[in-house]
Amino acid sequence: MSPANPNRPLTLALSKGRIFDETMPLLNQAGIEVLENPETSRKLILPTNSPDIQIIIVRATDVPTYVQYGAAHIGIAGKDVLYEHMESHPGGLYQPVDLNIARCRMSVAVPDGFDYHNAVKQGSRLRVATKYTRAAREHFASKGVYIDLIKLYGSMELAPLVGLADAIVDLVSTGGTLRANHLTEVEEISQISSRLIINQAAMKTRQAQLQPLIDALMQAAFDPASPN
Ligand code: ATP
Ligand code: MG
Repeated sequence: MSPANPNRPLTLALSKGRIFDETMPLLNQAGIEVLENPETSRKLILPTNSPDIQIIIVRATDVPTYVQYGAAHIGIAGKDVLYEHMESHPGGLYQPVDLNIARCRMSVAVPDGFDYHNAVKQGSRLRVATKYTRAAREHFASKGVYIDLIKLYGSMELAPLVGLADAIVDLVSTGGTLRANHLTEVEEISQISSRLIINQAAMKTRQAQLQPLIDALMQAAFDPASPN
């Protein structure tokens, strides 16, 4: 079915794990129940109690791509992921609502005992491993620090332990993973939370269907009684 097919159910792209888990209460408050659990089901298209709305399960980094091309009309993605995506794909997405879920921060971390601030002061060149190359490049450029960037796709905490990098740029919430790997957070780059993103064409062609869902999710996200 083509993305433009008006009979296709409204499609919401989510990633498994914390984004799915933290979106569920918002959907439930909006009257939408997802009928399968993505952790136990092998299905990638999940029906809901509304025949007009379905959920697709994709990698967190792929959510903006599905929405941008209209394969999903709407999606939820972290600011971290959106910022990287927008570097190569400017435009095409409405980014209207910060849902304030999946909150964490993006930070620089180094091995315990490495004097990062002194290294910066000395003008040392740093090897930085990260999945977030745009955010890292812009952060160090704004500080006037020269870096060699090493792009990784996961398990960034390992890189300094085995000599691949001097520092990492990664997401931190409790700091438990950093501590377990003898790393210390030395600088916060930005606060991260997840946003509702909307395909621009769908915003026009499907507004009657989309607007009530957007409004309900916004209301749930900002309802002081909500667990978020
Ligand atoms: P994958 O695990 O499939 O490689 P991922 O690591 O991007 O992908 P998640 O760990 O589920 O997937 O993260 C999804 C989003 O949740 C991130 O893009 C970020 O916005 C947010 N997030 C990541 N780590 C944390 C954290 N420790 N605490 C809160 N939110 C986080
Ligand atoms: Mg992860």
